[in-house]
Amino acid sequence: MKKKILDLAVIGSGLSALNFADEYSKNGKTINIISYKNEKMLTENNYGKLKDLPTQMRGKMNNVKNYFHSNNLIVENDCKVLGSLDFGGLSNYWGLQIDGYINNDQKINRKIFLSIENHFLKFLKKYNLVGSYFDNKDFLYKKDFKIPHQFETLIHKKNSNFYCKKPILGFFNQSKFKGDLNLINEKRSKLNSKNFFNNIKNNKKIIFHNYYVNKIFKKKDFFKVQCKNKNEEKNFYVKKLVLASGTIATTKLVADYLNYSKEIKIKHHPRLLSVFFSKKPIKFSLNFTPSILQIISSSKKDCYSADVRPGNKLITESIVEAFPFLKPVKLILNFFRHRTIFSNILLDTKYSNIFLRKNGKKFKLYCKKLNKKNLFNIKIKNIFKFLLKNQIIFPIYYSIFPGFGADYHYFGSIPFNGKGSLSVDNNCKLRGSKNIYVVDSSVFNFKTNKYPLGIMIANARRIGEHLSKI
Ligand SMILES: Cc1cc2nc3c(=O)[nH]c(=O)nc-3n(C[C@H](O)[C@H](O)[C@H](O)COP(=O)(O)OP(=O)(O)OC[C@H]3O[C@@H](n4cnc5c(N)ncnc54)[C@H](O)[C@@H]3O)c2cc1C
Repeated sequence: MKKKILDLAVIGSGLSALNFADEYSKNGKTINIISYKNEKMLTENNYGKLKDLPTQMRGKMNNVKNYFHSNNLIVENDCKVLGSLDFGGLSNYWGLQIDGYINNDQKINRKIFLSIENHFLKFLKKYNLVGSYFDNKDFLYKKDFKIPHQFETLIHKKNSNFYCKKPILGFFNQSKFKGDLNLINEKRSKLNSKNFFNNIKNNKKIIFHNYYVNKIFKKKDFFKVQCKNKNEEKNFYVKKLVLASGTIATTKLVADYLNYSKEIKIKHHPRLLSVFFSKKPIKFSLNFTPSILQIISSSKKDCYSADVRPGNKLITESIVEAFPFLKPVKLILNFFRHRTIFSNILLDTKYSNIFLRKNGKKFKLYCKKLNKKNLFNIKIKNIFKFLLKNQIIFPIYYSIFPGFGADYHYFGSIPFNGKGSLSVDNNCKLRGSKNIYVVDSSVFNFKTNKYPLGIMIANARRIGEHLSKI
């Protein structure tokens, strides 16, 4: 029987894949999405050590186990990377903040950078996101939200070590929004893959295939994409292949395809989780309050930042779940949540410490020995002093390092215009290969930007438009 050769397939259903599909299919082109969408366990194998899931992912362990199993990944104990093989992947659980600024940390020329910025702006307008985007002094997009007065004053304070900005928030379609975050319908308007898909699912040109990709093979002028699901194996044959399965899965699939056996560095933003105690109560009634402020270090050599997230119901639930003996005092914890400020301090990418390497038929993810204490000590003290000096907090704090990889931002393994076979050109085409593209965070070096989902989305849309024209 003659093989059916598809024109284009994208691997993954996260926000990079769906945004690519949205642009690509705009002018009537058919697109195939290959992504597994069941929560059924694919294996009985017990990945027992993977138990530290972030608050938003409570109850999603099967998807996490399926991810590591299907991608043939062995994870060393001290490496805390995360992935999820469900419809939408990690994009379903992200923390809601997008940087309201874009820096060009990539090896791309100004024209490409401006095209990414242009797609970013178009995306903000199309989905009506909450927040503002400005270029030097001009607002290019404005849909401001209100934050408590004490934080608003920080934005206007002059300080040689830090500057403060409001992020853009991942809430969309709020036609009556007047700046009050408490009036947002969290479930319906969160910009996650499931909600995003609802916007585009009536597009008959988007065809969904419920499989995960096991391996990719190059044939004469097409690719054989070997896929599986719980019950069967299936091969797809495609002319153009677009990888959007999140940095770790994409890098593994590409390395396997190229038979690349050297060590690959995955860049990320090592994170310190801190709790501060607010002098004034911060009243938000959302189940999961987004971060409302970013405190960004002014240093160009060591770019780190901290976010400010008021305590919320979901975090209280997670604390009680992690420490069941606190159940009787849940009411008290909820009472004090208006006085707590959670903060992620995200470090410069130069402290990245996650590696991927072929290990027989599998791939291994690991970290190297690194003195964590010195990495964080100075930064947390600086942030603490800054908040204290500005009368925001009481003079106590608590912080914990959740491990390398528990920042959930993975990128930079197949960069723009890098050296060697693990790199892409300006249009995200894999170097030295024809018709294979990468549109997730693998291509970016997010050195300055710390909440870069927006840039990733913009770029995926740019390539979607580009490929739809050829
Ligand atoms: C708790 C949390 C909070 C976060 N907060 C923020 C934030 O505030 N701001 C920010 O910018 N970023 C944040 N992030 C990071 C953000 O979620 C990721 O950058 C984003 O999800 C990446 O999108 P993606 O589409 O590239 O990959 P993913 O969302 O990981 O999607 C990958 C897709 O590929 C599929 N897949 C994987 N392997 C295969 C395979 N072998 N075959 C077929 N399909 C496969 C998955 O099922 C999924 O559909 C956060 C992440 C987490 C977990």
